[in-house]
Amino acid sequence: MMNATTLRVVAVVFVVALMLVGCAGEKVSISTNGDSTNSPTTNAANDHSGWWCVEHGIPEEECSMCSAKVATDCKEKGDWCEEHNRAKSQCFKCDPSLAEKYTNLYEAKYGKQPPAATD
Ligand SMILES: [Zn+2]
Ligand SMILES: [Zn+2]
Repeated sequence: MMNATTLRVVAVVFVVALMLVGCAGEKVSISTNGDSTNSPTTNAANDHSGWWCVEHGIPEEECSMCSAKVATDCKEKGDWCEEHNRAKSQCFKCDPSLAEKYTNLYEAKYGKQPPAATD
């Protein structure tokens, strides 16, 4: 026959076991949420809020493909590549050596080579 103390111990062990199971379940769901919130951070390099346009390998404020203002200015100056729809002076497709001017700007600022342009 169990006395009152034994019953209490059994009850406490049972409750602790339930809590452990509950915590383990919570941890799994928390880490799943953590993974999904981490992915936008990894994509930060591709957004257009920074100084450097990763997509085109040009500082954003000079990027004729991202800034309509720059595009208009370049068109007015006759600095425009109709074929690739960007400033002639920024058309690395027509003249890959033009990229050097901008990679030098990036290197001067960050002391390292920029990431390869994705476009
Ligand atoms: Zn751009
Ligand atoms: Zn071109």
